[in-house]
Amino acid sequence: MDTETLATQDRSGAAHAQVILKPRKARPFFGRHPWVLDSAVDHVEGQPADGAVVDLLADNGKFVARGLYNSHSRIRVRLYSWTAEPLDTGFWKSRIERAVEHRRRLGYDAADGAARLIYSEADGLSGLVVDRYGAYLVVQATALAMQRRVDELLPLLAEASGARGIVVRADRALARLEGLSVDEDRSWGETPEGPVFINEHGLRYGVDLGVGQKTGFYLDQRENRAAAARYARGARVLDLFCYTGGFSLAAARLGGATEVLGIDTSEKAVAVARAGAELNSATNVRFEAADGFDALDELVGRRERFDMVILDPPKFTRTRRSLDDALRAYHRINRLGASLLPPGGILVTCSCSGNVMREDFLHMLSGVAQQLGREIQVLEQRGAAPDHPVSATCLETEYLKCFICRVL
Ligand code: SAH
Repeated sequence: MDTETLATQDRSGAAHAQVILKPRKARPFFGRHPWVLDSAVDHVEGQPADGAVVDLLADNGKFVARGLYNSHSRIRVRLYSWTAEPLDTGFWKSRIERAVEHRRRLGYDAADGAARLIYSEADGLSGLVVDRYGAYLVVQATALAMQRRVDELLPLLAEASGARGIVVRADRALARLEGLSVDEDRSWGETPEGPVFINEHGLRYGVDLGVGQKTGFYLDQRENRAAAARYARGARVLDLFCYTGGFSLAAARLGGATEVLGIDTSEKAVAVARAGAELNSATNVRFEAADGFDALDELVGRRERFDMVILDPPKFTRTRRSLDDALRAYHRINRLGASLLPPGGILVTCSCSGNVMREDFLHMLSGVAQQLGREIQVLEQRGAAPDHPVSATCLETEYLKCFICRVL
C-alpha cells in the first residue's frame, strides 16, 4: 500500500474510519496513553486498511484521538494526536524535527557522536525508533503503520538530521506481533562498509550497523558509563554482561581503573570489545567470552576481589508472570556480585526489564543486603540518558534502571 492511500482521506476531506470504544474504556486514552488494545474496542465503522488513519471515539460518540489502525496487532490503534489534525507528511515532519531538536539541545549532535534521535512513544511517534551513529541512521519500525510509511519517513529523517545514509532494520519477534514483513531490506542514501566509529566521552567505539545486537550500541547507558567511571579510580573492576565493553573502557580510560575484566557470552561482542580496547589504548582491560552466571560462581569460588562490580544483564522478563523468576535472577547475580566486593566496594547494578519497577529492584537489593548481612547504600538512582525520554502518559517508555551503590 502506498502512503497516498494511507492518508488520502485527509486531503479529500472525507471522514476516517472510526474505532468505537467499549463503555467505560475511554479514560486511559483521554489520558493520552497511545495504545488502544483490541480488548477495549467495541466495533469499527468503515473498513480501515492496516496502517490507515482512524479516529478513536468514546461509546457516546465523543472524539478522543486520532491514530493508525492495525488489525494484526493486539495494539489495534496507536494514537498520535489528540486533536483532529491530519496525520500527513507535514505532521510526521514536525514530530521528527521536534525530536531532533531535543537531541541538539542536549549537545548530542557532534558529527562523530551517537544518539537516539527518536524514541517511539516518548517522542510522539509510537512504533518508530531511530538511532544516529555519526553520519548514519538506523531505523527500526516496530509498528506496521510506521513500516508502511518508511518511504515517506526516510527523506524526512535525512533532512532533519543531515544523515548521509539510513539503514532500516527489522526485529523478528516484533514482526510477528505486528504483522510486519522482515525480508525487505530498505535503505536510503549511502550505507557504510564495515563498522562506523563513534565518539562517546572522548572514547571511540566501532559499531556494526548490520550485525550488532539491538541497534549496535547501548546508547541508553551513555551517561551511566560516565557516572560509573567516576567511582573507578584505582579500582579493580569486573564488568559483567559487558557487550562491546562500554562500561569497561569508560572505567579504564575516563575513570582511571587499574585493571578491568569484562565478560560477555557473545564471542562477537567480545571481539569488538577487544578491538575497542586497542583502539583506545586501554592495555589494562581484558575481555573473556563466558556465561555470566557461571563466571560469577567461579569468581566467588576462587575468592576473587574487585573494588567495583558492574552488572548490566539482558532483559530477564517480558511478562508480568515471569516477574518473580526475574527478581530471583537479579537477586542471585547481585548477591554474588556484591560478595566479590570488600567493605566500601562499588556495585553498579542495572535492569532493563520494563516490568521490573524501581521499587521492585530496591526491594531486591534490600533482600541481598539482608542475606549478606551487609549494608547497601544507594548512591545514585539513574535511568536512561535523556535522549531516551520517559513519557509521563506512557510509562512503558521507562525501562532502564541503573543504581550505583556502596556495599559496606
Ligand atoms: N553494558 C553493555 C550492554 C550490556 S547488554 C554496554 O554498556 O554496552 C547485555 C549483554 O548481556 C549482551 O551483550 C549479551 O550478549 C549479554 N548476555 C546475555 N546473556 C548472557 C549470559 N548468560 N552470560 C553473559 N552475558 C550474557
